[in-house]
Amino acid sequence: MVRQRMPVDDKGRIRCDACPVLCIIKDGRAGACDRYANDGGELVRVDPFTVLEWGDASATAGKGAGTDGVPGSVGTDGVDGSAGASGVDGTEWTPEADDRGTSPALDVGGAGGVNDATGSRTGLPYGLEGGVGAGGTERAAETDRVAGGDPGSGAGRAARVRFLPAGGAGAWDGDVFGAARTMVTAIGAGTTYPDYKPAPFVVSQVRDDVDVVTVVTEGIFSYCGVKVKIDTDRHIGDERAVVRVEGEAIGHVTTGEYGSRMLSLGGVDHLTGGSKKEGRVTCESLLALCNREPVELAIDGGARMVVQAGEAPIVDGAAERLMRVGCGSATIGMFARQWAPHVDEVVVVDDHITGVLSEHQAGKMLDMKPTGIRLEGSRSTPGRYFRVAEPGSGWGGTDIEDPLTIVDEFRAKDAWPGLRLLMVSTTGEQWSYHELDDDLVPREAELPASLRTSVERIAENCEPSLCSVLFMGGAGGSLRSGVTENPIGLTRSIARALTRVTCGGAPVYLWPGGGITFMVDVLDVPPNAFGSVPTPALVAPIEFTLARADYLALGGHADAVRSLEDIAPEIGRRLVRDARR
Ligand code: SF4
Repeated sequence: MVRQRMPVDDKGRIRCDACPVLCIIKDGRAGACDRYANDGGELVRVDPFTVLEWGDASATAGKGAGTDGVPGSVGTDGVDGSAGASGVDGTEWTPEADDRGTSPALDVGGAGGVNDATGSRTGLPYGLEGGVGAGGTERAAETDRVAGGDPGSGAGRAARVRFLPAGGAGAWDGDVFGAARTMVTAIGAGTTYPDYKPAPFVVSQVRDDVDVVTVVTEGIFSYCGVKVKIDTDRHIGDERAVVRVEGEAIGHVTTGEYGSRMLSLGGVDHLTGGSKKEGRVTCESLLALCNREPVELAIDGGARMVVQAGEAPIVDGAAERLMRVGCGSATIGMFARQWAPHVDEVVVVDDHITGVLSEHQAGKMLDMKPTGIRLEGSRSTPGRYFRVAEPGSGWGGTDIEDPLTIVDEFRAKDAWPGLRLLMVSTTGEQWSYHELDDDLVPREAELPASLRTSVERIAENCEPSLCSVLFMGGAGGSLRSGVTENPIGLTRSIARALTRVTCGGAPVYLWPGGGITFMVDVLDVPPNAFGSVPTPALVAPIEFTLARADYLALGGHADAVRSLEDIAPEIGRRLVRDARR
């Protein structure tokens, strides 16, 4: 746990200077964000400062008690928290009452029940070992800089991935997962916004003869949001429709992707550009999503949904089960060979591209006869139809419940009595089988066993429907000053791949172009790693790792560098990250 002795006034109060709110906090109370507290005149970052080690997270499940070695205690004299500059009251805080250090999501002790930390429910890559990781050294950055440059790559700035420890195969000690690696994360490290001083921890470690520096801070992100991918065919709302929580606009429906609906939530316009309530609700919603909690959303002219990272979306009260196997046309292609011997016509109903087997390229190549079928909608290319119905929550993301409503007729020129017709949705969850009577009208009949297998195989080939949440933030502002006296040096170093950026130890995707704009899957970040401040803004861990020589060359804070051994007493939690992911 990170502590800092602060000047105390005659009422026992201290000022937190970790963000612009500048809370004045009485002894035994927490500041407006609940991230900092006053413990006898010390400013305490209440979440444990966390390091990661690589290994087999499942092997740690059930070990330890999830303890954090939280030292000390805070008086609970019931003194009211004082208002900070924003007028937001603080709240009472004690280490014992604060459950974030031993969050249920992290506690892997006990009887071995289903537990997020073990990854047994959502495949999360973390486990927790009790106690404090006081020793160990970090393996050199995964992309060790090649001393003197990599032949053929030029400029001495190429990086290569090291698969074995220095010394080659002969030096391998049998450690399959590289469990000896330790990474200092920014989780619980604290914030130094607006970064007029060095980041909270600048840590040096030597691994494989490479001196590596990791700079960590809990960045305050006013420019941030989340992208949400929702695996469903159901119509959740029109593109650009406003997404609301508690009636406040927090984002919009954006361009759909293959088999998924997409939301773009948050961003500076919603956080700071609207009413105070809009900013607060947006911030709370983003925080909940990033910390893997469920959020109920309402889309203008569309659905009400419950969205939670790693869980199935709940659309208008119905939990989605399957992500479609493909569009209607792709489904025809995948299963044409299995259908052709057993049926005369197949229609795969899809809101985007409905497929018709006999007309489709796949059917033609399999010598299927024309059936004279005429569908609603507009024909794009043979066997591929657009807009056969309106979007909705029925078959294949359309609004239909009776598939025959999209069949205009069977033309007598080609059709025949007894023609066998299978209609199926893109998830295989809905299907019906028909045979034409003497008037060429489809009559529902029992699905032959020969077709049942292929219908079931569509569902078998569908992946579970999930919500994915990617945090996206811009770290190109003052945060860089906590790393270097010459901020552009950090930006350039990242662009040249000399500096690796991680979020709570998780790999990030860095956008090309200017700035330091990154995205990270929140399920890769340890639980409850995100926080917020009432400005409003999200707080996210961010780490920069680079060779010490490069750090000094870009104007790094040389006087702030400490060794892993030096900071060991402040480490409050050691998580095991699954090296196989
Ligand atoms: S809101 Fe800001 S000033 Fe107040 S306790 Fe939190 S970080 Fe400190």
